[in-house]
Amino acid sequence: MKSLAYQAPTSISEAVALLARGGPNARPLAGGTDLLVQLRRGLFDVEVLVDVKRISDLTRIAFDPKSGLTVGAAVSCAALNEHPDVQAHYPGLMDAASIIGGAAIQSRATLGGNLCNAAPSGDSIPAMIVLGTEATLAGPEGTRAVPVAAFCTAPGKTVLAPGELLIALHIPPPASNSGAAYVRFIPRHEMDIAVAGAGAWVALSDDGATVVDARIALSAVAPTPLSVKAAGEALIGKAPVEAAFAKAAELARDAARPITDVRGTALQRRHLVAVLVKRALRKAVERARA
Ligand SMILES: Cc1cc2nc3c(=O)[nH]c(=O)nc-3n(C[C@H](O)[C@H](O)[C@H](O)COP(=O)(O)OP(=O)(O)OC[C@H]3O[C@@H](n4cnc5c(N)ncnc54)[C@H](O)[C@@H]3O)c2cc1C
Repeated sequence: MKSLAYQAPTSISEAVALLARGGPNARPLAGGTDLLVQLRRGLFDVEVLVDVKRISDLTRIAFDPKSGLTVGAAVSCAALNEHPDVQAHYPGLMDAASIIGGAAIQSRATLGGNLCNAAPSGDSIPAMIVLGTEATLAGPEGTRAVPVAAFCTAPGKTVLAPGELLIALHIPPPASNSGAAYVRFIPRHEMDIAVAGAGAWVALSDDGATVVDARIALSAVAPTPLSVKAAGEALIGKAPVEAAFAKAAELARDAARPITDVRGTALQRRHLVAVLVKRALRKAVERARA
């Protein structure tokens, strides 16, 4: 590893200035569980690491029943999973944050890093998409909000402009009678990357008999985590039963654009999408009714 400058700013403005000054060779560092591995492998040239974990705004979790959950970009998965409001209101998010690596990785890894790394297999990304999460970015031109569904543009690529920093992730308050879930397939119990993954969110009518809204998103089956609108829309107005889940699963499978690689074949991944979407929907509906 070549020598690098390490900066640990304590404010957003300082971090943005450091990134702007460092140009393309400056990179934000959160938990480092992707970045340090990539640097060791010599995947890109970095001269300045801007550690964002000392910025208090980025390490905060705040929940308000009216406005929802705000998770600072540098909050570790472990801190998120231990937060009582997250446990009470966002189990679908914990489904993802609690399977990223193992305990050691979760004590460092952040949702912000998972999103900005933009791996097609990033587990938290479909979980955030189905919850309607919005990312807040700060850069030399000011701040802006981007839906997580539109954040990743290609493997490893995002909408972040040069010098821009992800500040926080905002998830709306849970709608009445709603539930979410994320499930994935890996060949081992843990410490592996998804062969395929599926997130589901459903909102039911007051009597629980009809789906009034739904969203489905997938991981590891396209160049970016994939929101499948048609699959969610197909559930609206239907009873939350197996036949409706099967139709949504079929639409999700048709939308997937998987590749064959060391983890699995395209054929296996398509099959997995249908299986996982049904599992995620069952779990989301169970939570909506709980
Ligand atoms: C053993 C092991 C197991 C793993 N298992 C999983 C798994 O099961 N599922 C999974 O999805 N991932 C897994 N990963 C990958 C990794 O742990 C996750 O992607 C993690 O969430 C990355 O977060 P981080 O805070 O460590 O990011 P970092 O490595 O610090 O950063 C990742 C990228 O995001 C950028 N970045 C970070 N913060 C910001 C910010 N605030 N603004 C702008 N850019 C930013 C960095 O510059 C870098 O390009 C694993 C990694 C390891 C080493």
